[in-house]
Formats: sequence, C-alpha cells, structure tokens
Amino acid sequence: MKKSLTSLTLALSLIIPISAFAKNNVVVVATGGTIAGAGASSTNSATYTAAKVPVDDLLNAVPQIQNLANVSGVQALQIASESITDKELIQIARKINELVKKPDVNGVVITHGTDTLEETAFFLNLVVHTDKPIVVVGSMRPPSALSADGPLNLYSAVALAASNDAKGKGVFVLMNDSIFAARDVSKTINIHTNAFQSQWGALGTLVEGKTYWFRNSVKRHNNNSEFNIENIKGDALPLVQIVYGSDNMLPDSYLALQKAGVKAIVNAGTGNGSVPNYIVPTLNQLQQQGIQVVRSSRVPQGFVLRNAEQPDDKYGWVVAHDLNPQKARILAALALTKTKDAKEIQRIFWEY
Ligand code: ASP
Repeated sequence: MKKSLTSLTLALSLIIPISAFAKNNVVVVATGGTIAGAGASSTNSATYTAAKVPVDDLLNAVPQIQNLANVSGVQALQIASESITDKELIQIARKINELVKKPDVNGVVITHGTDTLEETAFFLNLVVHTDKPIVVVGSMRPPSALSADGPLNLYSAVALAASNDAKGKGVFVLMNDSIFAARDVSKTINIHTNAFQSQWGALGTLVEGKTYWFRNSVKRHNNNSEFNIENIKGDALPLVQIVYGSDNMLPDSYLALQKAGVKAIVNAGTGNGSVPNYIVPTLNQLQQQGIQVVRSSRVPQGFVLRNAEQPDDKYGWVVAHDLNPQKARILAALALTKTKDAKEIQRIFWEY
C-alpha cells in the first residue's frame, strides 16, 4: 500500500509540477497608518493614534493568512500617511523594488495609512518594474475598535498578492473587498469603511480569499513604464505643489510657490480645471520662467479637456486628464525627472 502510494505521488509529480501545490511567498511591508493604529477603547473607531502596532502583531492577529501564502513581515516605516514626504515615498519604492527582484518573493502587500495611500500606490505603479502583484492596503478603523476592518482587508490583500491571476495588472489598492487600480482610485469618504472609489469602477472583487475580475487598466504601468525607481537618485523628487481653486483667489499663493523653488504647479481648478481670468497672467508669467502649469480639477469625476476652458496650446500648459490633483503631483514630479518640455509632459499625462 505504502509502495503504491509512493508510486502514485511520483506519477502525479511527473504530470503536475510541484509548484502547482506550493504556496506563494508574500512579504507584508508595514508603513503605519490606522491599520496599525491603537485607540483607548473598543468604541473609539475614529479617535485613536495611527502607526502604533508592529508588523508581527498585525500578521499574528490574522493567522489565516498563512493558509493563503507563506507570509513574512518587514517594518519599513511607522508613520501616519499624511506625514509622508517624497523621501518616504522613494524609500518605500526602493524597498518594494528590492523585494520583487528576489526570485523567492511572489507578491508584496504594503500596509499604509489611507490618507495618502492613493499617492503611494500610484507612485509604485509608475516606478517599480515587475509583473508580480503589489497590493496596497489600509483600514478605516484601528485594530482596537469594534468591527475593525483591517484584519479582513489584510487577509484579502494577501490573497490578492498570492494569486497568479493578479500578475501584470498594475499596482492594486485593496479596500473593503474591492480591487482597485492604483492610478484611478481615491479616498472619497473619511469616516466609513467604503472609503475608496474609482470613477471608472473597481477592477474586481475579492470574496473569501478568491479573486473575481471585471476589467483591466489600459494605462502604462510597471514593466511598461518609462520611469524606474532604480534611476531616481537621492531622496527628493522635483518640487511640485498644488493650488486649490475657488472664487476670490490671490496670485500670491502661486508667487509664494515660485519663491519656494517649485518646478511645476498643479492647479486644482474649478469645473473643467478652470483658472480665473485675473490669475491667468500670473500663471503665464510663471510658465515663461520655466515653471510647468498642470491643470487638474477639484471636481472628483470626469476629466479636464485640453484647449476647452483654457487655450492650453497657446499658453504651453498641460492638462492632467482624469488624474486628481494629488495623482497629478506624483506624475508631474516623475515627468520632470525626464523632461522640461510641456508637450512631452502632456504626452506622459495622456499615456499614464
Ligand atoms: N491619518 C491616517 C493615515 O493616513 C488615516 C488612516 O490610515 O486611515 O495614516
């Protein structure tokens, strides 16, 4: 009996490769946020301190993840994501790049604060060359709260990072059972667990550790990106800042940024990325001095049309397409590592 079982195993292993049975290796890179937060009591779902719980405790709180993959943890940072600067962004990307280059790592999960999670995910989508799944996950309630959402989000994120069908689809944001594309997902509610949305919809859904896919992102990312973290030197990106549009604006906001040495200004304009007539001369003056002007919109849906509300060709301005101002800041900074030509920057905004 024992002999026949051995021959059966041998025969099977000749037909089905051993790798088909092996669990994938997933590394969880912890950076802080509410998913690692701690409140004074279980009813403190909104009043707590972010970035307290170490990565090993996060993993040990969800032992079920070890059924999905061989999971190990790395503590990269312990920070609330509103305090992330380009320095930490680059640091996270370098860490992820180092991990995905390892042959024995099949996927990576990044636990992150939700405030700027979309920026980090988009940055990774642009600068890490790999087809291995990279999943950024957070939570809206700290682990200490009743009905904490972090454990299930982490479980689903590990399932996604471990799934072979997630390969090559770009960096994901996994929140509240939805699989989003990093480029177009945004935090849209600050107090509910369904905090993340994309105007183009989710790529798929994750139920009980299984992926269900409905669409793909058509924009350039990862292996197909012209940006690469390995070519970024130092720990800063070209300085890009955002000015928020409203009525009754002052040119002084833009001039202060010029004084600070900004290389591009993302204008989070009203409506179709509009700029008040009394601000146009200031922006044109800055553009002629080599500061790029990128028109985005404070309206969360739709996209900015080139040469519609403003004569972008005439002014040499760039439109951010459907990227929100915070995503436009990331792409403009990366574009400026390559070129100072507004037409070339516009090409980049169409393609990513
Ligand atoms: N302020 C927190 C952070 O971004 C919020 C969160 O994680 O939900 O770190």
